[in-house]
Amino acid sequence: MEIYLDANATTPVLAQARAAALAAMADTFGNPSSVHGSGLQARALLDGVRATARRVLGVPGGRLLFTSGATEGIQTAVLSALDALRQRRAAGESIPTLLLYGATEHKAVAEALRHWNALLGLGLEPLAIPVGCDGRHDLDWLRQHAPRAALVCTMAANNETGVVSDLDGIAGAIAASGALWLVDGVQALGKLPLRLLERRIDYAPFSGHKLYAPKGIGMLYVREGAPFTALMAGGGQESAQRAGTENMAGVAALGAVLQALESGDVFAPVATLQAHRAQLATALGDAFPGVVFNAPFDTSLPTTLNFSVPGVDARALIDLLDAAGLRVSGGSACGAARAAPSDVLQAMGLPAWQAASAVRLSFGAADSAAFVQEACARLRACGAAWRADASAAAAQPGLEIDAPALRAALRGTPRPLVVDVREASEQGLQPAAGLAAEAAPLSALADALPRWRDLPAETPVVFVCRSGRRSAQAAGALRRQGHANAWSLAGGLALWSAA
Ligand code: PLP
Repeated sequence: MEIYLDANATTPVLAQARAAALAAMADTFGNPSSVHGSGLQARALLDGVRATARRVLGVPGGRLLFTSGATEGIQTAVLSALDALRQRRAAGESIPTLLLYGATEHKAVAEALRHWNALLGLGLEPLAIPVGCDGRHDLDWLRQHAPRAALVCTMAANNETGVVSDLDGIAGAIAASGALWLVDGVQALGKLPLRLLERRIDYAPFSGHKLYAPKGIGMLYVREGAPFTALMAGGGQESAQRAGTENMAGVAALGAVLQALESGDVFAPVATLQAHRAQLATALGDAFPGVVFNAPFDTSLPTTLNFSVPGVDARALIDLLDAAGLRVSGGSACGAARAAPSDVLQAMGLPAWQAASAVRLSFGAADSAAFVQEACARLRACGAAWRADASAAAAQPGLEIDAPALRAALRGTPRPLVVDVREASEQGLQPAAGLAAEAAPLSALADALPRWRDLPAETPVVFVCRSGRRSAQAAGALRRQGHANAWSLAGGLALWSAA
């Protein structure tokens, strides 16, 4: 059974939400713009979900529109704010010059600011608000820069670390400035009270797929009186605020999730989530002694654990956990294909090794106690397997071949067979320089071993990987299968390239 622990990337769709989506496709399938009975039924569904969303968010007034997700909500908010500035400048008014955004903000925010600032020809200055080692915004810095700020963008909770922003502190720091304020509520919805009205937040985008609704549905709240410009023009849907026939299956599913939030009997309360986090943290500590957590628990979402294990790179750890059916990620999902250390952890000033080896484990408020227990058991089993592997590799003398010896062997006969055991994505990013290597990722090694087991005894098989750790495992495995002439490139490709 898969134990999915990557809820900050996306969640499965709640059973009630699936049923609601199916009903919207099969029964209430009308176009809410049609004036006949089918259209009116669809319109009632749309209005009903909007009313639920307003209650859940505590916003009886202002705009509440359905979007395709948070990225679209962010575009609409940024366009609205910047277009208003453009109009003010065109009318001869002098406008503030800074676009402030949190240094750990989701990429969609910084990129939207850059994009619309350039497209509207505003030439304003985007500037990252620094964060402390706890991941929270530097409020003194913000207070200092707020008077020159046109727009301030700060997420409510961070997707990589779970760090919860001090929204009251931010509200205080920018209160006198007149700057517009965008709060990315994606990771906070259903987990934290956002108090949008009380805090006078101008724009708040949300995403359905982070909270058990399907991908392709989201919401944007816009405070009454805050500037608004439609991102899409067309048939006048969403009161001409967002053209395009509505994603009714998505709206219906989101409605079911919002109802579940309102009823309070589907999602676990915060105290339970904190208990689940404590269990997982203990299991991680047992499995990998020396593990460090990269964000303080008391100011983070209880559903996110970002951690690093000294001496173990993120990818190796993710592969190990994946083999046990535990789905976790390194950094954010959007950055998962990149081999770079996490920007978020670097902005927090964490040591390079910690930022480079960070793993994110995030669970959902619908996960049961039994699910968390199973996750803990598997984490402990992974720790035991890891220690067994490490001691087996260390116990095998003469498993390693260094770069000069491999070079010499490659000039001799029989030529060694070189096998790259990194995952395909790593191999694509960093080719094995000068080594004509066969590719066989460690995760698929069991299938590949029989190919080399029966090679002539005098043919060396040399495994290579990034650091020499996975290749040592592979060489050990092939020796155990009976081919004694199996080797691991010492120091891995990192040292091979340097040499
Ligand atoms: N903001 C945050 C904090 C996120 O975590 C994400 C998704 O990763 C987004 C914005 C973008 O959301 P969507 O996938 O709905 O466009």
